[in-house]
Amino acid sequence: MAAFETPRATVCLTFDFDAVSIWIGPYGATSPSAISRGEFGAVGVERILRLLEGAGIAATFFIPGHTVETYPDHARAIVAAGHEVGHHGYLHENPVALEPAQERAVLERGLTAIDRVLGLRPIGYRSPAWDNSPHTIDLLREFGFRYESSQMGDDFTPYWCRVGDVIEGDGPYRFGERVDLVEMPVSWVLDDFPHFEYVSLPPRGLRLPGLSAASKVEEIWRDEFDFMYRDVPGGVMTITMHPQVIGRGHRLLMLERLIAHMRDRDGVVFSRLGDAAERFRQSSPRPV
Ligand SMILES: [Zn+2]
Repeated sequence: MAAFETPRATVCLTFDFDAVSIWIGPYGATSPSAISRGEFGAVGVERILRLLEGAGIAATFFIPGHTVETYPDHARAIVAAGHEVGHHGYLHENPVALEPAQERAVLERGLTAIDRVLGLRPIGYRSPAWDNSPHTIDLLREFGFRYESSQMGDDFTPYWCRVGDVIEGDGPYRFGERVDLVEMPVSWVLDDFPHFEYVSLPPRGLRLPGLSAASKVEEIWRDEFDFMYRDVPGGVMTITMHPQVIGRGHRLLMLERLIAHMRDRDGVVFSRLGDAAERFRQSSPRPV
């Protein structure tokens, strides 16, 4: 296969290694019990690395700077195994809640942590809240990112990010200019966290019932894949998982079954998200 030939179907397994950052950052937890839920992410990473090695799959891990500094050995093991590391904030901050100067500082702090511990510069970014501020796309371009993965304007087809959209309440929405940053779209149905994680934080207005049977999620994810395979040739399926969520035994068994199901089809490639973004760049030049 030529370097940038588009496969019949591409699957990108992505893991957001939030660890304790999501609990002490956006969730404001101080109790050892709540924080320990994030600690389990390190256990999950060890299991996921074994699963990926056994399957011969290269994946993408989005890691907050705080996690890189808290679990440097885990972060190094991820890189050593050939997986991609992407930027995921410092303490899992929602960019929309930040002033522009703060958002810039968080981006720089995450890059510094990744550089100091791992000696690399990520090309991909995922907003910790899947929520971009009006400045995020310009900032990512300024810092040399090649793609981001936080928006939902398509499902299985990457596209070019925009800046300068105009929100009109009494007329049609006006789309801005397409810029040199690839969107690798995500979806809540393809995210393990809301399906599985039980969270009750009334002071923060957050309640996720979670605790779904893995078989239900398996059905949704398998049908999403089957639809893409049939109706969207060349599609890219990006699944978002969290080591502290998918790392439970029954969920990992589900992931193994899902991978086997996908591998039963011809022309299915498992790819790091950055590699899939580069293939999109080659096959779909940005309209100017
Ligand atoms: Zn996250």
